[in-house]
Amino acid sequence: MNFPKYPLLAAALATLAALPACNDAKTAATAENTAVDAATAAMTADSAETAETTTTGTATAATMNSAGSPATIPAGRRADAATITARPQVPILCYHQIRDWRAKDSKGAKDYIIPVDQFKAHIKMLADSGYHAILPDQLYAYLTTGATLPSKPVMLTFDDTDLDQFTVARPTLEKYGFKAVYFIMTVSLGRPNYMSKAQVKQLSDEGNVIGSHTWDHHNVKKYQGQDWVTQIEKPTKQLEEITGKKINYFAFPFGLWNQEAIPELKKRGMDAAFVLAEKRDQQDPLFTIRRIIASGYWTPRTLHNSMVQSF
Ligand SMILES: [Zn+2]
Repeated sequence: MNFPKYPLLAAALATLAALPACNDAKTAATAENTAVDAATAAMTADSAETAETTTTGTATAATMNSAGSPATIPAGRRADAATITARPQVPILCYHQIRDWRAKDSKGAKDYIIPVDQFKAHIKMLADSGYHAILPDQLYAYLTTGATLPSKPVMLTFDDTDLDQFTVARPTLEKYGFKAVYFIMTVSLGRPNYMSKAQVKQLSDEGNVIGSHTWDHHNVKKYQGQDWVTQIEKPTKQLEEITGKKINYFAFPFGLWNQEAIPELKKRGMDAAFVLAEKRDQQDPLFTIRRIIASGYWTPRTLHNSMVQSF
């Protein structure tokens, strides 16, 4: 694929607020969307509505989100790559902007911009269907040691620091006791239409996980020398200063990664990294954990079908 230059230069930030940040993955997402819609049309059962609800009843959101950090799991106890790859995948959803569509939003952009009511309907469907939102430490413990997860696990992730993730997603998730992961690109902190450092800290303090998503969203596959410091090391340290917690997780901009990046991320304290819908790496499945973009076009039913089919 050919990727246009990411337009996130400081001078272009104001313009960027209206654009999706992850243009590059839209071809795959659109293809997937088409496949899902075809599958949806072929299905007669409304799986989202009839999905079994197997909530445990007694467990609280707090206890279900508890798991030690990766550092608490001795290396000798961690499963090998083949074992990790063989475990059933947990559906992981990736959202970007959460706002109503505007006339100038392109067709492709709308995969990355979910209207507010559509987003609320997605989250309500997950809750009504008995899903439990898990966090990366739980996923890591499950993948590396086989630790038990709550029934119907899902992970909710939000990329690119958009302000509406704080103003819309946060209260919506709070209503259902869901926690989430916010992958922050630090260049945009405090800019118009992006979250402030105080908001990121608040999300962290409230039990959400803050992850690293580079300084300014450049493609990891093009990094050389000092780029690893500028894009990974310094932004991660800044997020650790903001949250007062170690940052253990990274999301690749555009979902793009290569083998070279993995040791560079490990060197800088990462325990796992997230890509998009493409295949995982057989040697390093923890650094290529799959997510799907929950498109703004998707109804709750389409989302549910996609979760079932993609993971
Ligand atoms: Zn991104």
